[in-house]
Amino acid sequence: MQEGSKSGIRRRGLMLVLSSPSGAGKSTIARNLLESDGGFELSVSVTTRQRRASEIDGVHYHFVSQRDFERLRDTDALLEWAEVHGNFYGTPREPAENAMADGRDMLFDIDWQGAVQLNEKMRADIVAVFILPPSMKELAARLKRRAEDSDQTIETRLRNARIEIEHWREYDYVVVNQDLDHAFAEVRAIVTAERLRRDRRPGLFDFVSGLLSKEPDRK
Ligand code: 5GP
Repeated sequence: MQEGSKSGIRRRGLMLVLSSPSGAGKSTIARNLLESDGGFELSVSVTTRQRRASEIDGVHYHFVSQRDFERLRDTDALLEWAEVHGNFYGTPREPAENAMADGRDMLFDIDWQGAVQLNEKMRADIVAVFILPPSMKELAARLKRRAEDSDQTIETRLRNARIEIEHWREYDYVVVNQDLDHAFAEVRAIVTAERLRRDRRPGLFDFVSGLLSKEPDRK
């Protein structure tokens, strides 16, 4: 279990789920969070999708064959899995369960189908945040600017964006990414508040007992 920042009060880890349609800025927000907050560890998914030029196997994803994916899925090695844009994605069970057992915070960059499955299994530990684009026009522009995908892939992603957005109500928080700095500050605020929740801080029992056992100094 973690020491709770400055107070030193023990707390449970949390599972931060970030979802959004492709291009809404979720990956940048996730990266900023991982870089600025040493408490978070990224859950590295397995996927059958082709590796993009900028991606590193084992860092961004574990790139696997369809056959390997099916083997992992069928041996219950995945905490959740889904088909997204015609490829398969899944969250490896072991690293996530280890992180939770040790009270470390973990970040899951997964789609709504994965968020639903994690919520069913680990509701108390999940904080689910949905990132919305400011407009569909801006979303299309961001996907084109990224230019890492073919035109056909971009079309598929735009169509799927609408389906993904329809699931916004299933999340605890919704952040509109009009301005990246502002959206990131909002995600940070969510994390700060969620870490302070009473039921995530079992160390409060000892802390409060200690507080009350001391007589105030009346001098
Ligand atoms: P991309 O191919 O752009 O990296 O990801 C496509 C979508 O798949 C994103 O919405 C991403 O969040 C989602 N995704 C990535 N890994 C997982 C996973 O392990 N499980 C689920 N359910 N979705 C994932």
